[in-house]
Order: sequence, then C-alpha cells, then structure tokens
Amino acid sequence: MERSGNETDRRLDGNAAGGLLAEAFCVEMTTAVVVCAGCGAEAVVAELLRYGHEMGAILRCAGCDTAVVRIARTGDRLWLDLRGAVNLRVSAAP
Ligand SMILES: [Zn+2]
Repeated sequence: MERSGNETDRRLDGNAAGGLLAEAFCVEMTTAVVVCAGCGAEAVVAELLRYGHEMGAILRCAGCDTAVVRIARTGDRLWLDLRGAVNLRVSAAP
C-alpha cells in the first residue's frame, strides 16, 4: 500500500514516540481498560483472571478465557504479549 505524500511527510522513527510510550507504560496498569480480542468484552485489567507460572503470568478474560495479556521475565528482560487484546487504554496525565 502506498502512503500519501502527507503521511510520508509526518514519518519519523520510533524515538519520536518515546515520550508517549513512556507515558503509556509508566502508569498503574491494573486500572487500564482492555478489550478482549476473543469476545470483545471490555474490562479493567484487575478483573482479568491471573494464571501464574514460574516465568510470569497469563491474564485471561473472565468471559471467554482468551489469554488477553501474557507477561514473562527472562533474566533482565520483561516480555509483554498483548495479542489477546484489541486495545488497552490507560488514563493520560492531566
Ligand atoms: Zn473475552
């Protein structure tokens, strides 16, 4: 798919989104609102069902059991898999 000239003019590398990403990930995540990719249900993260394992946790939808959030720690890395979420909304700083 070709991008329009206007869209190309606004293209920067990922560093340009660093401030927004820091704002999005440095918040209380249990109050974030997530939409399940399996059934479309909307819930706050605290309402998901946590299944722990030695490397981290899987948070599943209470309605359809889809793995909405997977988080794991390996050494000095945290892995975050959100493919079970359509989107995740956090409150922006005022
Ligand atoms: Zn669901």
